Amino acid sequence: MSQLALLGGSKTIPFEHNDMFKWPIVNKAMEDAALQVLRDGNMSGTDITRKFEKAYCAWTGHQNALGFCNGTAALLAAMYGVGVGAGDEIICPSITYWASDVQAIALGAAVVFADIDPVTLCIDPKDIEKRITKRTKAIMVVHYLGYPADMDEIMAIARKHGLKVIEDTSHAHGALYKGRQVGTIGDVEATSMMAGKSLAIGEGGMLATNDRDIYERAILLAHYERSGDLTIPEYIRISGLPLMGMKGRMHQISSAVGIEQLKKYPAEMTEIDKAMNYFWDGIEDLPGLYSHRPPKDSGSTKGGWYACRGIYKKEEIGLPLNVFCDALTAEGLQGISPGCNNALHRHPLFFDVDVFHAGKPSVEVFRTPEDRPLRELSADLPVSEGIQDRVFSLPWFKHFRKDLLDLYIAAVRKVVENRSELAHLPEKKNPGAWMLSRRR
Ligand SMILES: *Cc1c(COP(=O)(O)O)cnc(C)c1O
Repeated sequence: MSQLALLGGSKTIPFEHNDMFKWPIVNKAMEDAALQVLRDGNMSGTDITRKFEKAYCAWTGHQNALGFCNGTAALLAAMYGVGVGAGDEIICPSITYWASDVQAIALGAAVVFADIDPVTLCIDPKDIEKRITKRTKAIMVVHYLGYPADMDEIMAIARKHGLKVIEDTSHAHGALYKGRQVGTIGDVEATSMMAGKSLAIGEGGMLATNDRDIYERAILLAHYERSGDLTIPEYIRISGLPLMGMKGRMHQISSAVGIEQLKKYPAEMTEIDKAMNYFWDGIEDLPGLYSHRPPKDSGSTKGGWYACRGIYKKEEIGLPLNVFCDALTAEGLQGISPGCNNALHRHPLFFDVDVFHAGKPSVEVFRTPEDRPLRELSADLPVSEGIQDRVFSLPWFKHFRKDLLDLYIAAVRKVVENRSELAHLPEKKNPGAWMLSRRR
């Protein structure tokens, strides 16, 4: 008789354990810092934000950082900063959150999609060059779900073709690529620090770069109150009003919380890394399950393991992904579900939506009939097309608690070892989602 909880057996983890996942962890220093801003009536200044930017630079090694109201705005500013504009193309992986690239359309540019690598789930360097045209301005790299993208290959391609590289580090705060912190390798980093992310400060974003020109262009775009920081004469001449009529400033409660959060984040990252690696070490010998983490001796790490997922090979385990996830959830495991972000190239916005009421698709406004069609440039993305049935979300442990982790490992082993009993359950294709589901 079956012991699997999905078939009526008892749960491996029958008790509540939400505290294992609660995020961010708010300490007294964060609370005090936020209250102080409120009491001082200092919500809209820039003094605390500037301190946070300094702390951020000290952490990453960047020369310039600029706080934003959110990651979406920071990424728009990074695109503007590297010179993305009317008629340009940026190359972006199809599997990411929309705010890695939709902003390009507001700049009059178009997005060309590249496929992802099935192991890293980040942009596949081998799939970039065939999509480069004379309009290509930049490559948008996303260190997806915390896995550092293959920066050596990407930088070599970018330098060969004279392209800029933007790193979207929203999933990978503190992750290392061959010993170097992600975000410091390309021309500019832009990141989200909204409450669900690893480095969570509330709503907030950051742009960071060693390139003074990019930094000053980001100020011009959305930080009219910082005109006094500009040094480039032409930029001083046109300063004073934000060039796209936008305000990008960070709320100072977020900055104050960020200063405190950054002090403890490295220790939290270490604890998460220990818990996640322990969990994977306990299950990776099982058929069809592969961790999404860099090899141990590579010098690369996953930072805070944001929205971590595992890779699933149905042909090896012999069980549909939805049944596997249902069986684990029935055992009392939290945070298990199939899939990840939808493939963006499936959305009409990148091909035929007339956002600007120009009488033609917005991405076509500055293109000519001689340009290679966007649908052709973004064609042939087999890994992105099939990804929803190849990955599943994992519990994102915030603490190393051996007893509980051992139960999680035991539950996965129980399901896999008894999987033949689940063979009669029907396969359901996972539809995917434009957002990663919000997890506790
Ligand atoms: C969250 C996220 C963003 C956008 O950041 P917000 O702070 O929500 O505006 C951009 N890119 C990626 C990959 C993200 O996950």
